[in-house]
Amino acid sequence: MISIVVPVLNEAENIPGLHEEIVSVMAVLGRSYETIFIDDGSTDATLSELRKIAGPEVSYLSFSRNFGKEAAIIAGLEKASGDAVIIMDGDMQHPPSLISELIEQYEAGFDQVVAKRNKAREPLSRRLPSKLFYQLMNFTSTVHLEDGEGDFRLISRKVVDAILTLSENNRFSKGIFEWVGFNKTVIEFDHIERESGSSTFNPLKLLDYAIDGISAFNHRPLRVCFYLGLVVLMASLAYIFYMFVNIAIHGVEVPGYFTIIASLLLLGSIQLFSLGIIGEYVGRIYIETKNRPKYIVRESSEHETEQGGHHE
Ligand code: UDP
Ligand code: MG
Repeated sequence: MISIVVPVLNEAENIPGLHEEIVSVMAVLGRSYETIFIDDGSTDATLSELRKIAGPEVSYLSFSRNFGKEAAIIAGLEKASGDAVIIMDGDMQHPPSLISELIEQYEAGFDQVVAKRNKAREPLSRRLPSKLFYQLMNFTSTVHLEDGEGDFRLISRKVVDAILTLSENNRFSKGIFEWVGFNKTVIEFDHIERESGSSTFNPLKLLDYAIDGISAFNHRPLRVCFYLGLVVLMASLAYIFYMFVNIAIHGVEVPGYFTIIASLLLLGSIQLFSLGIIGEYVGRIYIETKNRPKYIVRESSEHETEQGGHHE
């Protein structure tokens, strides 16, 4: 059996169409399946659309507020009972027609089948920042990420179980998928514009996401901070030694404003920078130690109220 997990936030207009397409694709494949919609605190008619299509093959969960796409995906994975799970967006940017290809590769023996977005036709204004992000990410991190490889993928039961054993709260799913490993293959699809509604990711949210990704997956920024401090310390010591020798030979000169100001600025900025990095990790520890559930369900197609996160 195949489970299809779809996180949705204010996608009321897209849900009926997506549902229909999934039904027809799965009918052609003649496989048993379930579609699980996770309503991530929508404020439009999303929930009532979900109630309409709920049935033996369609179930849903609805969060009490917006917990983020990552939490929605985790909730879907916890609920899914299939031998393989397909994760896809609810805005038709992830074409359901690709489902058969995903399943084909899964049957060929792959545990992760990634549908990679071909970015060639995207505007440069979106391609450039994401290129920068991946360069930075791959420079600082131990897991390697590929631009265009998003959440649209099929993962086998083994991978699902592996992901669910991770208890951390900040789930940078792209990184998690790579981190768990297993054998993976990639298929490509063309970028499509959103059918309706609008993308919820603005530049600031994307920057937040990038910082999450970088700090969730490595400790290298801490090390950069350490090396920077070391270099500055060495330079300072060398300069102090130079001044000492200079004074010993030529006597005291008029102290220059420039050197004082320059060293103040330099040291001040490096300290601030380092504090920022340390603060990032301290904040992360703070969030993890609270160990809050990753989401709270207000309604589900089984009409039960449960708390996600650590009920295992
Ligand atoms: N989404 C969600 N919670 C959020 C933001 C987005 O469940 O807080 C869903 C959204 O409904 C869509 C998918 O995640 O199905 C991708 O979102 P979006 O299209 O806004 O992202 P983009 O395609 O622009 O990266
Ligand atoms: Mg989208």
